[in-house]
Amino acid sequence: MAEDMTFLSRNEVLSLEECARLVKIFVSLGVTKVRITGGEPLVRKNAQWLFEEIGLLTDLKELVVTTNGSQLSKQAAMLKKAGVKRINISVDSLQADRFKTITRTGDLNKVLAGIDHAIATGFDGIKLNTVLMRGTNDDETVDLVQFAIDKKIDISFIEEMPLGDVNHARDDTYVSNAETLSSLQSKYPLLPSTKHTGGPAKYWRIADTKTSIGFISPHSHNFCESCNRVRITCQGELYLCLGQEDKVELMPLLRAHPNNDEPIKQAIIDSMAVKPKGHDFDLKRATPAVVRFMSHTGG
Ligand code: SF4
Repeated sequence: MAEDMTFLSRNEVLSLEECARLVKIFVSLGVTKVRITGGEPLVRKNAQWLFEEIGLLTDLKELVVTTNGSQLSKQAAMLKKAGVKRINISVDSLQADRFKTITRTGDLNKVLAGIDHAIATGFDGIKLNTVLMRGTNDDETVDLVQFAIDKKIDISFIEEMPLGDVNHARDDTYVSNAETLSSLQSKYPLLPSTKHTGGPAKYWRIADTKTSIGFISPHSHNFCESCNRVRITCQGELYLCLGQEDKVELMPLLRAHPNNDEPIKQAIIDSMAVKPKGHDFDLKRATPAVVRFMSHTGG
């Protein structure tokens, strides 16, 4: 059962000004890295203003974006000018029909053109994010890595996370990163890497190439103990853990206190006391621990 697309009314979504205000508040509380993700962040009207506003924050060390790549041909230069350092692009297949099936609307050629545009624009890092699903795209592992090598960019394999009700247990489509790593080690000279981008990925470098492979392994190599991430949805919901439903509603506070950030700051500080220790993902469960889909919070 695919995720139905429902569009929220304007009032149910944070305005760009409210988004910028929230990021400023988090940065004032010590946050140094902000990732803008989606759904697809680059289709939001006037997204440029938000990127430029956030890019002006001098205490922010890193502004990064996760995108489906469809808008990069038009927006890569804007992102660079706004101060975006690194871009992650979600690509689960290099076969146009399969790509369309997996993304439901995606045009692979548009995304490939966007990737080339981003490479030509020049960022500190460009990385493909790929979720392998057994029987769907796991036969493309080497093709995807070879594509990254040819483009001189990085790639990360993210173990499927059971978010959203897809009407079946995930363990029948789950591909562990341990399996992916060993299959790639038989094909490429992989060297352990100390590379770290502040996220949960563990990197391996492919010798004699510019490419590193990241492995984000919530199941086979749980990384929750070092987690320092929270997520805010476009509705102002502060999710304390991707794998739990615990959240704090910040939109009512923003709108009740348009000129006073203290109540929002206090709510954020208090929420850290209830941040869950980790996820309860269980691939064998037919009904997911987390009912909302990944696109609700972004990865
Ligand atoms: S599952 Fe939750 S605790 Fe674990 S890394 Fe993700 S957000 Fe952090």
